[in-house]
Formats: sequence, C-alpha cells, structure tokens
Amino acid sequence: MRPFDYARAGSVAEAAAAARDGATIIAGGTNLLDLMKLEVMAPDRVVDITRLGLDAIEPTDAGGLRIGALVPNADLAADRRVRRDYPVLSRALLAGASGQLRNKATTGGNLLQRTRCYYFYDTAMPCNKRDPGSGCGAIGGFNRIHAILGASDKCIATHPSDMAVAMRALGAAVEVVRPSGETHRIALDDFYCLPGDTPQVENVLEPGDLITAVLLPPPPGGVHRYRKVRDRASYAFALVSVAAVIRMEGDVIADAQLAYGGLAHLPWRDRRVEEMLVGEAPSVDLFALAGELLVREASGQGANDFKIPLARRTLAAVLADATGLEAAK
Ligand SMILES: Cc1cc2nc3c(=O)[nH]c(=O)nc-3n(C[C@H](O)[C@H](O)[C@H](O)COP(=O)(O)OP(=O)(O)OC[C@H]3O[C@@H](n4cnc5c(N)ncnc54)[C@H](O)[C@@H]3O)c2cc1C
Ligand code: SF4
Repeated sequence: MRPFDYARAGSVAEAAAAARDGATIIAGGTNLLDLMKLEVMAPDRVVDITRLGLDAIEPTDAGGLRIGALVPNADLAADRRVRRDYPVLSRALLAGASGQLRNKATTGGNLLQRTRCYYFYDTAMPCNKRDPGSGCGAIGGFNRIHAILGASDKCIATHPSDMAVAMRALGAAVEVVRPSGETHRIALDDFYCLPGDTPQVENVLEPGDLITAVLLPPPPGGVHRYRKVRDRASYAFALVSVAAVIRMEGDVIADAQLAYGGLAHLPWRDRRVEEMLVGEAPSVDLFALAGELLVREASGQGANDFKIPLARRTLAAVLADATGLEAAK
C-alpha cells in the first residue's frame, strides 16, 4: 500500500469540498482498503466520513424511507420497517458478504463498490476500467463471472452489489450533495452507466459528489423475493440474482418489479419483461416466455455462456415462487 494522507471530515460540506479537490472518500473501507492494498486505487488523500451522522433510517413525507449513506448493511437488513415493508431489500442484504463485512459495509459504499473482475484487481493485467486504453484481459480470457447483457468490446465486467439490485427493483433514488451545497436526487435507474467506450465511468456522480442517503418510495406491497445463484451457499458474489416484487389481484399479476444481478455492468432492469407479465395469469409458459425475453439480446464470452439459460430459469423459478404457481401445481 502506498503512503497517503488521512483526514476525518467534520461536515458534509467539508467532505464534499475535499472530494472535489481530489480526496477519496472512505466509509466502511471494506472495498476501498482492498483496492488500495493491491494498488488498484492509490489515493494521495483519504477523507473519512464515518463521523458525519448519516446513519439514520427515517420515514419520508412521501411515505417511504430515507436511509442514511452510513447505515451499515447489517442494520439496514435488520430494520423493522425494512423487514416488514421492503423484505426484498433485507433478503438481498443478507445474501451478501458475511456478518462481519455487513457490520462495516455502508449503504453508500455498497452502491459504489467496484467490480470483482479478476483482471481489474491484477495490476499486471490489461484492464480498460483500471487503465483506460490498455485492453481487457477478460475478453478472450477467463470470463466465467462476466456480463451477458449491456457489455461492450471495451469491458464485460458485472456490478457486484446485491443491495443495489433490490434497490433498483424497488425504484430507489440516490440523494447526493454537491460541493456547492446543492442536494440532488438521482433515480437509481439513471445512476449507473453501461461500459461503452468508457468503462472507467461507472456512474453519473461528479467530482466532489457525496452520497448522503438512499430514498425508498412508499412500500409497494406484494410478495418479495430475492434469489441469488452462486458458486457457494454463502460468502460468494452472484452469478445470477433476481429481485422480485410481485403484486397479484385475484388470479392475475397486477404489478411486477424485477431487477437482476450478475448479468450486466449495472443492476439490470428490463421493463419489457414486467409489462408482458402484468394482466396475465401465472403459468409455466408465461414465465418461460419472460425468461426468453430477458435474455433475448444476451451474449456470452464462452466461459459465461451458462449464465444465459441460468438467468432464464432463475427468473422463471422466482416468478413461480412469488405467484404461488409452484405450490398450486
Ligand atoms: C470478501 C468480501 C465478500 C463480499 N461479498 C459481497 C456480496 O456477496 N454481495 C455484495 O453486495 N457485496 C459484497 N461485498 C462487498 C461489500 O458489500 C462492499 O465492500 C461494501 O458494501 C462497501 O461499503 P463500504 O462502506 O465498506 O465502502 P468503502 O470501501 O468505504 O467505499 C467503497 C467506494 O465507495 C466510495 N464511497 C463510500 N461511501 C461514499 C459516499 N457516501 N459518497 C461517495 N462515495 C462514497 C468510496 O470512495 C469507495 O470508492 C463483499 C466484500 C468482501 C471484502
Ligand atoms: S471486464 Fe472490464 S474490469 Fe474486467 S478486465 Fe475487462 S475492462 Fe477491466
């Protein structure tokens, strides 16, 4: 690890000003410190935001929840209101990392954690995300965990967060304070970027932007599911995950909110799949068609080809579970 200056911010404005001037924010440090030890990131100055008091979970006037950026993943998963009204979020959080990590990992840091692409972490290998223009080790390399949707010929990395997948299904927004002091709200739908020609640009934050909270809309009701398929039963990142909030009216699907992990550079959402489900009665054929639609534009890189049928089948299984189709069979 290279030497760096450390400072603790006393206010949101101070942290944002330091970030604008090139300092790197540290929250739980569970991703950043790993990256610094490997010299993938080598900031000269690190600003600790853990004393800014951004650790409350509060109701909003709109009937939703405002989750402070420093709320630990463990506390968010255990929160009574989250477990009752947004169980898909609790389940996604508990499917991630380990108990110790969830105690340290924060809401803001989880959204901004970097990809787990092996080549990104190995500074001896080419990587357009770490070193723009150097190439991509994963294309033509070992790419079992890589993207099947939304990738480019510059980068095929996936986003690793489980929490962000549930947040996207729920229609969350990110609250950001700019160095000018202005507060902005960015829908998670618009927050992350696809790799395109600039995989180093991962989100729409500007230098100095500090995430202060995540905003959840009012509880959507319905049945909530989070299914994560991974190589080990715990302590592993998703190969494919599906977050589902499904509301039935009588025998038909009245609303479907779905997001996917492990498939793309960002927590993926495809409204076409949701639209085809609404107004229909659950059936094996319908859910098979939903899976087909989800992966219609998918392409593998060889070692990750298996993700295409896996995504299709995982979605169909989650939909069957959430609508009670399995039990009814
Ligand atoms: C062994 C291991 C297994 C894991 N398994 C999983 C898993 O299965 N699923 C999963 O989802 N995650 C997993 N994680 C990742 C873990 O969830 C993240 O490391 C964690 O959520 C990051 O939060 P943090 O507070 O520690 O962020 P930090 O490491 O402190 O920061 C991460 C990034 O966010 C920036 N940042 C942090 N807070 C803010 C803010 N408020 N405003 C602006 N920028 C900010 C930092 O500058 C940095 O770039 C795993 C991690 C490890 C080490
Ligand atoms: S997939 Fe992206 S992160 Fe991985 S080596 Fe290629 S450019 Fe780097």
